Amino acid sequence: MAQEITSADYESKVLKAKGLVIVDFFSQECAPCEALAPKFEFFADLYHGEIAFYKVFRQGDRDHSTALGVKSSPTLLFYKDGKEVAPRLSGAIKKSEMKKTIVDAFGLPDKTLGTLRKIEEVDLAIIGAGPAGLTAGIYAGRAMINTVMIDQGNPGGQVNLTHMVANYPGTEAEIGGYALMEKVTKQAEESGARIIRSAEIVRLDLAKKEIDIDDDRRIKAKAIIIATGAKPRELGVPGETALFGRGISYCATCDGRFYEGKDIYVIGGGNSAVEETLFLAEFVNSVTMVHQFDEFQANKTAAEQALKNPKIKVLWSHEPRAFHADTKGFSGLEVENLKTGERKVLTGGAGVFVFVGYVPQTQLFAGQLPTDRWGGAEADPMTLETKMPGVFIAGDLRSKPFKQITTAVSDGTVAALSAQKYLRSLAG
Ligand SMILES: Cc1cc2nc3c(=O)[nH]c(=O)nc-3n(C[C@H](O)[C@H](O)[C@H](O)COP(=O)(O)OP(=O)(O)OC[C@H]3O[C@@H](n4cnc5c(N)ncnc54)[C@H](O)[C@@H]3O)c2cc1C
Repeated sequence: MAQEITSADYESKVLKAKGLVIVDFFSQECAPCEALAPKFEFFADLYHGEIAFYKVFRQGDRDHSTALGVKSSPTLLFYKDGKEVAPRLSGAIKKSEMKKTIVDAFGLPDKTLGTLRKIEEVDLAIIGAGPAGLTAGIYAGRAMINTVMIDQGNPGGQVNLTHMVANYPGTEAEIGGYALMEKVTKQAEESGARIIRSAEIVRLDLAKKEIDIDDDRRIKAKAIIIATGAKPRELGVPGETALFGRGISYCATCDGRFYEGKDIYVIGGGNSAVEETLFLAEFVNSVTMVHQFDEFQANKTAAEQALKNPKIKVLWSHEPRAFHADTKGFSGLEVENLKTGERKVLTGGAGVFVFVGYVPQTQLFAGQLPTDRWGGAEADPMTLETKMPGVFIAGDLRSKPFKQITTAVSDGTVAALSAQKYLRSLAG
């Protein structure tokens, strides 16, 4: 079992200790810390006598943690003979990441092989705890269905990344995305649905309705709702990741209003890029679209409207090559003319919207369920049941034109009610 230590013990137990040590800096009221705790104990038991496992309460030892450069909870530090020997792990730490570090950095064998899986039987398993999954959880919990939700990170989904949500009914003017999802998560848990956080699904067998989590747990369900969402497609251009939320956005509906009266750039020229640009042009001062082709790949009406709009200019046959930053965030967009190879940096714009598509998160069940040509999962639009009986889908992973919190919540409702009906049919 891991032992809790303080800064007073750190030198003797960690920095001057011979051998292998892992330290977990944790905080209270920290969901990923709670999610990590059982995994930490799992490894502490498995490698008992070979690795010393310590826990440090970060809020109680703030100065010491800061001096060690530990800025978030949980954070794991890996020591060999008093020296850190591996990159630190923090946030929603997966069991596989811990295992990999133990094997790679400490050179110990993988002792998780052959670990017996604890089998848990439930009526309904919901994979993904974004707006769609959590709503399904609320409905299922309130219907007294034995339900478990499984998320690879913390609940909340893409909305956790949203600075402000202004279009969700009932939230008055604006609400922080994180705050909104905290409320939804609380409601789902209070309704009786359990949430397994930071879980890595290593095997999903939809025919048998078995979900293997990490190395030691198998959920056997009677019905499954998959709500793994989608991710905006990134360009993969330098500066993009660092400037996300600091001048780069992937959602006009969400962030457009922050650019009222400003000049902005849009990357893309397909349907969503053109339609989102028309929306943005209603309140920004100007939009410069950067598109790789000589014409839009959008529907004719939208394309014509964009071309006629005096606020919209298009840089045809150009592609972004880098995002530049200053201390405040985004400062310039470097583009290349695909015909001449000439590069230039566009400045003066307050931000960039990237609309080059979404990537539905369907890898988990690849080969088990059909997807459309854009990668969206398919289901009966009335019930959201897939071709596999008792398996439902909900939210942004689904093949559908509008991806918003309200549409995800609607899907969650439909999938949960359909699953309820399916479970009743099993009971006869
Ligand atoms: C930056 C941004 C701002 C936005 N702002 C708004 C807005 O203001 N208003 C609005 O209506 N919409 C907004 N959207 C869109 C909205 O967030 C999505 O439509 C909505 O979150 C979709 O919900 P979902 O539950 O289908 O999927 P997601 O929110 O994507 O949630 C999916 C969940 O599944 C989990 N998951 C994925 N894969 C696995 C796996 N293999 N195992 C376990 N768990 C997994 C993820 O961790 C996640 O928690 C915004 C989107 C973005 C990116």
